[in-house]
Amino acid sequence: MTELILAVDLGGTNVRVAAVDLKGRILRRTSFPTEASRGRERVTENILSNIKELLRGFPKDKFEVIGGGFGIPGAIMLDRGIVSQSPNLPGWEDYDIRSRLEDGLGMPIFIENDANAFALGEGWLGAAKGVKDFCCLTLGTGVGGGIVLNGGIWHGAEGKAGEIGHMVIDVDGPLCQCGSNGCLETLASGSAITRMAIEAIEGNGETDLIERCGGQIEAITSKMVYESARDGDPLSREIFQRMGRYLGVGLANLVNLLNVQLMVIGGQVSEAWDLFIDRARTELEKRALGSMGKGVKLEKARCGNDAGILGAAYIVKKGTGKA
Ligand SMILES: [Zn+2]
Repeated sequence: MTELILAVDLGGTNVRVAAVDLKGRILRRTSFPTEASRGRERVTENILSNIKELLRGFPKDKFEVIGGGFGIPGAIMLDRGIVSQSPNLPGWEDYDIRSRLEDGLGMPIFIENDANAFALGEGWLGAAKGVKDFCCLTLGTGVGGGIVLNGGIWHGAEGKAGEIGHMVIDVDGPLCQCGSNGCLETLASGSAITRMAIEAIEGNGETDLIERCGGQIEAITSKMVYESARDGDPLSREIFQRMGRYLGVGLANLVNLLNVQLMVIGGQVSEAWDLFIDRARTELEKRALGSMGKGVKLEKARCGNDAGILGAAYIVKKGTGKA
């Protein structure tokens, strides 16, 4: 009998579902659009039917599914298995997702915030393998975070800890969607890069980005800024330097607070690694107290799009006493 874990990375846009063995090998996978706007019951039903279809490939006389792990974008009340809020999943507030899934699947279900699941995936099989204390940042449209201390996620009183993206870097900085100003997310995310590029062009900056976006400034994406920077465009390169500096300030704050020695950085923006990481490191070393910044390793996440899936599998492994 082979033991299997059902792992689900539930995103605002797509859902990834996989059957994972206890060593973290993905045996079978599927993905499909979340269609979050259709409401939580419809989304849940869709997930359940896709899971059942995927598990059909594993006959019950040969495979035992020991549980299901779900990484969910939002705040999770872990003790009750409830999603307390989720900006990307409308209508999921106070949703008892764990009971719903346990009833639908007949197996123990473990849920975790998606950024925390990402951190656990990197801790199990990625850049933080074997490291007990580290922080994980995902630089995507926003900035996600997970804090791992002594081998486990630091959840805080309400399960909401690790919102590294909402650490304030510039008190008078751009308005953040959370209502605050100058959060790391407004200065070091994909949307921050896009905004900085548009602002620079509106300030009459010269850049090949104008040509790249076909003259439509509002169509600029962070990927275009990356491509221009990679091709040597000075204005685009400067934007990644600024973003790197802000990131370095955030990393220094984390180091001063936690004295961790490893930062794992993932997400789409991390593809531009060489364009910002040296600047981030310089700023980190400058602002970290005493010698604390010197020994800190900055590592690119290694599990790619599978970190969330692997982290979701890991919480099942841990929760069932098999880690
Ligand atoms: Zn914020």
